[in-house]
Amino acid sequence: MGKAVVIVGGGQAGAQVAQSLRQGGFDGPIRLIGDEPHVPYQRPPLSKKFLLGEMAEDGLFLRPPAFYDAQMIDFIPGTLVTRIDPAAKRLSLANGDTMDYGTLVLATGTRARPLPLPGADLDGVVSLRSIADVNDIRARFATARNLVIIGAGYIGLEVAAVARLSGLDVTVLEAEDRPLKRVVSPALSAYYSDLHARNGVRLRVGTGVLSIEGQDGKVTGVLLRDGETVPADVVLVAIGALPNDELAREAGLDVDNGILVDGGGQTSDEAIYACGDCTRFHSARYDRSVRMESVQNAIDQAKAVAQSILGQDVDYDPLPWFWSDQYAVKLQIAGLSEGYDDTKTVGDPSSDKFYVAYLKNNQLIAVDSVNAPRSHMMARRVIGETWRDDLLPDA
Ligand code: FAD
Repeated sequence: MGKAVVIVGGGQAGAQVAQSLRQGGFDGPIRLIGDEPHVPYQRPPLSKKFLLGEMAEDGLFLRPPAFYDAQMIDFIPGTLVTRIDPAAKRLSLANGDTMDYGTLVLATGTRARPLPLPGADLDGVVSLRSIADVNDIRARFATARNLVIIGAGYIGLEVAAVARLSGLDVTVLEAEDRPLKRVVSPALSAYYSDLHARNGVRLRVGTGVLSIEGQDGKVTGVLLRDGETVPADVVLVAIGALPNDELAREAGLDVDNGILVDGGGQTSDEAIYACGDCTRFHSARYDRSVRMESVQNAIDQAKAVAQSILGQDVDYDPLPWFWSDQYAVKLQIAGLSEGYDDTKTVGDPSSDKFYVAYLKNNQLIAVDSVNAPRSHMMARRVIGETWRDDLLPDA
C-alpha cells in the first residue's frame, strides 16, 4: 500500500499521469480521485462543439470507462479530497474516509474566477468550466433571448460565437480597451472585434460593470458604470480562472498563485508532485515563472511527472501552444508573446487567413495563426530563431 500513487483531480493532467505511469511500466497501485461524476474528459469542446450540441457527452471522454479497469487504474469519481497530511502521507475525503499514499500527485486544475459584484449570486448568472455547467447553460439558452457575457477572453468569445449560432442576442462586456488584450496583439484583437461584429455580437470594450440586476431572485440585466442597464436572461461570467491550490497551501507546500513545482513536477514536499493548470514553474525558455492553462501543458507536464515518479531525470520547459475556435475561424498560438517589441503580419486579415509573428530583439518568440495551420506547425519548430522573411510559409 505504501507504494500507491494517488492522483487528486480526474481531469486532463490527472488522467495522463495515470496512463503514462502504466505505459512507463509502473506496476504498483494507482488511484485517481475526481470530484466530478464523469470519467476524465477534455474541456476545450465545452465552449465549442459540445455547447453547440454537435458533440455528445461521451465524445468528450479522454478514454472509455473500461480503459481504467483494463489498466488497473482505480478511478474514484464523485469524491472530494479535503485535506492532505504530508507527515502521515494521508488524505482526508469529504465522505469521512481517509486514504494513504506513497506518492501523491495534485492535478486539481482551476475554477472560474467569481465576479465580486452585487447580484452575482442571482439565478441565471453562470460560469463555464465543466460538463454540468454546460448542461445547465444549454437548458437556459433554449428559452433565453438576451445573453450578456462579462469578459472578452477566449471562453467568453467562444461562447459568444456559439450563442450567435444558436440564435441568441449577445452582448460582450470587456473592461479593457480591446478583446483578448492579455494574450494577443492589437492586430489580432482588431480582427476578433470585427469577426464578432460581422456575426452580430455587440462587443463593448472599456465597459465597467457595477452590478447584476434581478427580480424575484432571477437575473434581468447588467448595470454598467455609466448608468445604462443591458437586459439579460443569462449572464456568463468569463473573467478568468483561479488555481485550485488551497489543498497544497493548507498542507504547508510552497504556493504562489499556483502550486510551485520544479522541472520534474516536484513540489516542496518530496513525496508530492503536481501538474496542469494548478501549477506554477520556472521557464528557462522565457526566463520567468509561468502558470499555464492549456491542454498542451496538462499533457506534457503530466508526462514529466510520471517520468519523475519512475525515477527518470526530467526538466520540463515546453514550447507552449494553444488554440481557439470561433465560428469557422481557428486560431493557433505557438509560444508566449508577452514582452514582444515588434510584430510582422503576414497575409490579409480580411481574407480570414493570416498570421502575426511576435519578435523580441529580432528573435521569433511567438506566432498567432488564423486559419493558417502550416505556419503554426512550422512556428513550433523555429521559435527562438532570428527573424527572416522566409522563416515561415505564407499564410
Ligand atoms: P482540469 O481539467 O480542470 O481537471 C482538474 C480536475 O480536478 C477537475 O475535475 C476538478 O473538479 C478536480 N478537483 C479539483 N480539486 C479537487 C479535489 N480537492 N478533490 C477531487 N477532485 C478535485 N485549452 C486549450 O489548450 N485549448 C482550448 O481550446 C481550451 N479551451 C477550453 C475551454 C474551456 C471551457 C475550458 C474550461 C478550458 C479550456 N482549455 C483549453 C484549458 C484546458 O481545458 C485546461 O488547461 C486543462 O483541462 C487542464 O487540465 P487539468 O487536469 O490541469 O485541470
